Amino acid sequence: MSALPAWLTDNALSADLETLLAPERDGSLEQLAAEAQAITLRRFGRIVSLYAPLYLSNFCSSGCVYCGFASDRKAPRRRLEFDEIEKELAAMKALGINDALLLTGERTSVAEFDYLRRAVEIAARVMPRVAVEAFPMTVAEYRTLAECGCTGITIYQETYDRNNYSELHRWGPKQDFLERLETPERALQGGIRSVGVGALLGLSEPVGEALALARHVRHLCRTWWKAGVSVSFPRIRPQEGGYQPAYTVDDRFLARMIFAFRIAMPDIDLVLSTRESPNFRDGMAGLGITRMSIASRTTVGGYLDTETQGASQFEVSDDRSAEAFCQALRTKEIEPVFKNWDPAYNGPVTQEVST
Ligand code: SF4
Repeated sequence: MSALPAWLTDNALSADLETLLAPERDGSLEQLAAEAQAITLRRFGRIVSLYAPLYLSNFCSSGCVYCGFASDRKAPRRRLEFDEIEKELAAMKALGINDALLLTGERTSVAEFDYLRRAVEIAARVMPRVAVEAFPMTVAEYRTLAECGCTGITIYQETYDRNNYSELHRWGPKQDFLERLETPERALQGGIRSVGVGALLGLSEPVGEALALARHVRHLCRTWWKAGVSVSFPRIRPQEGGYQPAYTVDDRFLARMIFAFRIAMPDIDLVLSTRESPNFRDGMAGLGITRMSIASRTTVGGYLDTETQGASQFEVSDDRSAEAFCQALRTKEIEPVFKNWDPAYNGPVTQEVST
């Protein structure tokens, strides 16, 4: 078995998080919240930027025990054809969405690299920001995706506990722990501008996961200092297959983890998805979280025709409409931001001034 990279076991990279997450700090949650809120306000202002996921395909070659799309599930399989992708994107645009995250399962002959590349090309024609959450790729493949308009990738390590990782990933390409761990760097090497990382909370002991995640973020920020790095905090949700998480991650711990990341890493985007309840999402907006998914469907497609959805990867908890969610943000005097990125500005940052 290959050795772990030195940064993953370098406690110095997560010492501040360790202090913030120590059991004796549990009583100071309100104080941590106030500190996180002040930092968020100072660095980001009163905004939350919004994106929406579009599942392109639920075919998968892997057997992740916690996922409704694992290849042993009986759920019907489907992939969007290119004309359907165009229509789904148009339906998303009609909701005001300008930032799309395209998702697939692990690489299969039905949804392989060329399929994803064409989907990115189509999305980049209408969405100012296009990211993918799919299978790990080579540097050359990431370079091609970047040239087609892909600006970011999301890839969760799921768990940083290598032994648990082996047990939870029963078969398929995702069994390779190190290949997945190195994926964000391959993407950045290929010219992708931003990477999103995270651990699926509940799979392993949560404090250990938070510390390993912090080391990963610090390593990426130090090595790729021009890149954008964001952190997500997904908790396991009910799914086809009925996996029950081995560890409980309650709201109080998750809130403390979010505040600790904001205090320790003031400048990075912290992301919260519709896996979380409306109450929790509303509470976290402005207290550290700066980016949220909205109006999410976790079925293949689903924006165009809610009658033909089929199986989902997991159940969403916050199913409010885009309009209702934005209204909730505004009630808290937080501005929902649908677009803060324009590909037209991708050119040189300095220009000659003619006299
Ligand atoms: S988590 Fe991803 S790779 Fe694993 S079974 Fe689900 S879709 Fe496939």
